[in-house]
Formats: sequence, C-alpha cells, structure tokens
Amino acid sequence: MTMEQPQVAAAACPPHSIVIVGAGQAGGWAAQTLRKEGYAGPIVLIGDEMYPPHERPPLSKTVLAGLAPADSTWLMPAAAFDALGVDWRRGARARRIDRAARQVLLEDGTALPYGRLILCTGGRARRPDWAPPEPGSQPLYTLRTIDDALALAAVLEHARRLVVVGGGWIGLEVASTARQRGAEVVVVEAQSRLCERTVPPEISEHLLALHQAQGVQVLLASGVAAWEPAPDGSALVQLADGSTLACDAIVLGIGLVPNDDLAREAGLACDGGVLVDGQCRTSDPDILAAGDVAVSLNPWAGRRMRLESWQNAQEQGIAAARAALGLAVDYQPLPWFWSDQYGMNLQIYGMPRQEHRAVQRGEMAEGRFLRLYLEGDVVQAAIGANAGRELRFARRLIEQRIHIDTARLADTDIPLSQL
Ligand SMILES: Cc1cc2nc3c(=O)[nH]c(=O)nc-3n(C[C@H](O)[C@H](O)[C@H](O)COP(=O)(O)OP(=O)(O)OC[C@H]3O[C@@H](n4cnc5c(N)ncnc54)[C@H](O)[C@@H]3O)c2cc1C
Repeated sequence: MTMEQPQVAAAACPPHSIVIVGAGQAGGWAAQTLRKEGYAGPIVLIGDEMYPPHERPPLSKTVLAGLAPADSTWLMPAAAFDALGVDWRRGARARRIDRAARQVLLEDGTALPYGRLILCTGGRARRPDWAPPEPGSQPLYTLRTIDDALALAAVLEHARRLVVVGGGWIGLEVASTARQRGAEVVVVEAQSRLCERTVPPEISEHLLALHQAQGVQVLLASGVAAWEPAPDGSALVQLADGSTLACDAIVLGIGLVPNDDLAREAGLACDGGVLVDGQCRTSDPDILAAGDVAVSLNPWAGRRMRLESWQNAQEQGIAAARAALGLAVDYQPLPWFWSDQYGMNLQIYGMPRQEHRAVQRGEMAEGRFLRLYLEGDVVQAAIGANAGRELRFARRLIEQRIHIDTARLADTDIPLSQL
C-alpha cells in the first residue's frame, strides 16, 4: 500500500475495472501510473503485439543499426512489469467496444468489462496506393514495430542499395542508419523540402545538406509511380518522371494512420484520431485516450493535433491514467521531439510558425546551433542541434514565457541563463 492510496479514494470513487487497449508506450505508462497512484483494482492491458510495453525511438536507431537488442526497448524490466499485477492479454486484438454493455470484445470473442477504458492504440505505417495493403511483402518495408525493425535490420546486413520513400523523421533516420551500415541510399520525397510538416525551411535545408554530405541522394518534389519485384528479391522503382531506381529494398516512411477504428465504430468523436480534452476524455467520459492516437487542442500550436512523440506517449499515458482515477489533470504539454541522425541530436521544443522571428546562436555549418523562434520578446519555440544544455534553458524560457533582451540573444558569449 502506498501513501497515495487514500488520496485516490478521496479524489474520486475508483472504477471497478480499468481496461487499456494498446500495450505500447502510452498503454504501458497508463498501467504503471494506475498502480503508482494507488489503484489496486483489476487492470487489463490488451496488446496485439507479442512484446511487453516498449518504446519505439531505438527501432530506427540502435536496434536498426544492430547495436541493441529488441529488449533494450522494454519500458521496464520484466520483474517490474510482473509486479504491477496487470492482466496482460498478449497478442490479443480488441475488435469492438460495446459502450452500452461497457465491455471490450476481443477478436476471439472474449468480453472484458470496464469501468474506465483507456485507448492507447497508436497508429500504423501509412501505405501508398502503389504498395500492397498488407505489410510483409518483400522487398517493401515499413518501420513501426519491433518486428519491422528486426526484419529491416536483417536486410541492412547485406543490402547495397535502399530506396527510402518519404523524407520525414522515420525516413531520414532509416537513411542515416542505413548509410552507417554501408548501404547506398536514395530518399524520394514528394514535397519540395524535407520534414516539411514539422520544421521551418532553414532546418529542412540543414537536414538536406547533412544527408547529402553523407552521400545520400535526395530527390525532392518526386514520387513513386510503381515498383516491380525482381526474381532475385530486389526491386525496380519507377518514379513519376519515368526514371527508375534499382534497389535491394524499399522502405516506406510516409507517415502514420491513427488506429482510431475502434473508437469511430463505437461512435466516439474522431477527427484524424480520437478527440480528447485536457483530461484525456473522449466524447464518452468513461473512455479516455492517449498517445499517437489522441487528438487534442494544443495551446502551443493553437490548434487541435496529434502529437507523435515519445514525450507525449509517456506524459499523456500518465495523464489519462490519473484522469481515469478522477485525479486532477490538465494536460497541455509543450511539444518536445528529438531525432538522431549521423551523430547529430536535433531537438524541437514548441511549434515554430512562419510568423515567428528567428534568432540563431551558433553556426549550422559547424553542426551545433540553437534557433529560437520569437513573438515580440518571448521565445515561443526552439530548435537545436547538439545543443542539449542550451535547449534546457530555452525550454524554460518558452514554458515560463519570460521576456528577454533580444538584442543580446544571438551573442553566444552570453549564456541563455543570463538573458
Ligand atoms: C521507428 C520510430 C522511431 C521514433 N523515434 C522517435 C524519436 O526519436 N523521438 C520521438 O519523440 N518520438 C519518436 N517516435 C515516436 C514515438 O515512438 C511514438 O510517438 C510512440 O511510440 C507512441 O506511443 P503510443 O503508445 O501512442 O503508440 P504505440 O507505441 O504504437 O502503441 C500502440 C499499441 O497498440 C496496439 N494496438 C493498436 N490497436 C489495437 C487493438 N485493436 N487491440 C490491441 N492492440 C492494439 C499496437 O499494435 C501497438 O502495440 C518514433 C516512432 C517510431 C515508430
């Protein structure tokens, strides 16, 4: 028994049984938070993967590079997971939510009653029209799951040439890891710049220069029209302009489709994911959602959006569990995302917008810089490369909306902490 237990009982009457669908990062955090907050009732964790709750960032980095085993991604050691006393339905798929009967139905027909239900179903890799709908058709690969990463890592052991479709974060990290493993890489991106949805043009330029310097061929404003498997297991990719690329494997990195089907079929409000409020509640207050699948109003972005990030999966998973217990929750995170490519650690705090004025500290060409995005004299967002320490101060400036002396901001002799 923990000290928090009476507090939970005082805050709200805990639901009889809590069911979590999705045993990824958000689901894992939700389960352990319920226990941490003193909830001693039944928790059912339904996960269609065979692995215990885990984190995905290493899948495109150390695991893909063959430098770390799959179990390095586990959210907690096996003994700690067992100690939670969670009824983990491993390899089980939730097929339907019956809201009237307050139960989740599994594919095998099992009905699991819930007092509160937390949806942490994440998303799946988007597949373009020209790719078969189902994964597993070699030499086409996606990268979302541990199994995807292990399959692609095995390919990278011998692949000489890779075509990566999509110049977003996953595509670029795959390109980086594949280059480090000695493969030639072509990145095919439909937009006119890399990571167009998430970073301003100057950062796209920096990413382009970085990849080109590493020998990656980046084709912008380009698209795949078709592909053909060859008898030897390789493939021929035909681009929209008629040119062709021969390769050993094609990796699709064109984004994520939220797994909101269960919610939509149950009549919950969805719009590109499951709509939730600051308490992680869906349009049915007994059903909550967290992680990649959840859409919420983000005050830093000024709009409703899904946050596909490690930080959000953890923090919103925690928030949803607390909300399920009736504890106070007001989830309004400053978005934080990072990416590792060729030894560069890039971090983004907040959401840089076109109307922001940018001030830069350090030189991009030197590989270490911090760009601050301001509205007046208040920093609204920051993007830094290999600048972890300064980024921590930048985060504080943003979160506390501190007014700063902008005239001195670009002077790297003055530490951010003194502005
Ligand atoms: C390769 C890769 C690299 C990444 N790198 C970074 C990074 O460097 N930095 C960063 O900030 N973020 C990164 N991310 C993003 C981050 O990992 C995700 O935002 C995070 O994993 C989301 O967690 P989640 O729990 O919402 O979803 P997931 O981790 O996807 O978990 C959802 C789980 O639910 C299961 N599920 C779905 N439907 C059902 C159902 N009906 N029944 C049962 N189970 C179901 C899914 O199979 C899955 O296991 C990366 C993501 C990937 C894929």
